Amino acid sequence: MDKLHEECGVFAVYGHPEAANLTYLGLYALQHRGQESAGIAAGGGGTVYCHKAMGHVADIFTPPVLGSLAGEQAIGHTRYSTAGDTDPGNAQPFSVTCNKGRIAVAHNGNIINATGLRRELEREGSIFQSSCDTEVILHLVARSRERTTAGALREALLQLDGAFSLVFLAEDRVIVARDPHGFRPLALGRMELSGGRVCYVFASETCAFDLIGAVYMDDVAPGEMVIAGPEGLTRERFAPESPRAYCVFEHVYFSRPDSYVFGRSVSETREMLGRLLARECPAEADVVVPVPDSGVAAAIGYSHESRIPFRQALIRNHYVGRTFIEPSQAIRDFGVKLKLNPVRRLLEGQRVVLVDDSIVRGTTSRKIVRMVRGAGAREVHLRISCPPTISPCYYGVDTPDKRELIAANSTVEEIRRFVEADSLGYLPIGALREAVGDAAGEYCYACYTGAYPTELIHVDDLLASRPQRF
Ligand code: AMP
Repeated sequence: MDKLHEECGVFAVYGHPEAANLTYLGLYALQHRGQESAGIAAGGGGTVYCHKAMGHVADIFTPPVLGSLAGEQAIGHTRYSTAGDTDPGNAQPFSVTCNKGRIAVAHNGNIINATGLRRELEREGSIFQSSCDTEVILHLVARSRERTTAGALREALLQLDGAFSLVFLAEDRVIVARDPHGFRPLALGRMELSGGRVCYVFASETCAFDLIGAVYMDDVAPGEMVIAGPEGLTRERFAPESPRAYCVFEHVYFSRPDSYVFGRSVSETREMLGRLLARECPAEADVVVPVPDSGVAAAIGYSHESRIPFRQALIRNHYVGRTFIEPSQAIRDFGVKLKLNPVRRLLEGQRVVLVDDSIVRGTTSRKIVRMVRGAGAREVHLRISCPPTISPCYYGVDTPDKRELIAANSTVEEIRRFVEADSLGYLPIGALREAVGDAAGEYCYACYTGAYPTELIHVDDLLASRPQRF
């Protein structure tokens, strides 16, 4: 079955003699978007080399491996894990040889009609190597009667429904595209090379540009395809205008705070979330403590607004992956202690405002509340910098089934009791909208409202294939 492959990072370079090395660095900066597997496909002069493996970017790409990825063009991908789905065959990029030459693709998002498209393709004789929806794109491109790769890709993209920010390598060209709603981010940057040459780079988040010294120029627009080739940069719209649906969760949690996402500073947005949270859900307390790292920026905002001192009273061990990538409950339980430890001296006898970005199942939050209380806190007031998460995401964020979302099945008071906090406050949706500056209604809030911006006619397929992880 098609797997939702979600929460990924993509990167691409056009026109740099060290394309694979830059892609390696770019993926390094995007590691937080997926830690299960990573891959790079590099090409130029009629060849495409691809290397992908399970694990972290820094472990996979040793100097000899990078040395073998020759060419001035490259695309890369980091992929998030799925429970029981540790099949290296699902690692990206996917690369094939077809009548369009040697091509490779990597993708962030979730194509919601992939199962249907795949069934049709299989009926007509296509053979799939993986359970990933991304492979569908390659088959559509390979089958297209269009003469050029860009034309074939355009035709393929028009058949896709859902969320995709994708990077595509066609020997001497890099082509990228973003779905017409713009669910997932995709930024465009440039670097000047010696001799006046210009190199173009693309990344899920701009923090990848900072590392390689590229300048952030713009976002790839929703419904836009950008072709970087010998003729320079060509930008074109491949699909008619659709209502925008930028994923608000990128700002709430997923992206790095040093990135610009959808043209906004993530750090600034998160601080504003915290400020508004302090106004909407005040607390009488002595200290504001973030759950690191997800709650840090919002806690700073909360502290500024409330004038309650900020204290880093939970210390994170940075050498442990995010607890949510651990697939089994047993490991996850252990994971909280492995990852966080309280600073007793800062918590003893204190009334604590504990700030985090979200509650999903509530189990981690409860452990953290217990940990803070166990370290001597007199009161624990939990503040969450987004509204209650009541509906799963079908566009590329890994939220569990509705049955497991605590806020889908409980009142705020019931959740407060479950997590054992003295009080619990969530940011209202209006304030979230204000923090991301969404006057024009361009964001997707489906996880907080249950109102999905696309038809979900394929949801049964999606549910059947949905891995249970987080
Ligand atoms: P829990 O209390 O078990 O619901 O876990 C809440 C924690 O999970 C918070 O610290 C969040 O930062 C984190 N979190 C929120 N959304 C996700 C997600 N999609 N995947 C993994 N972790 C998440």
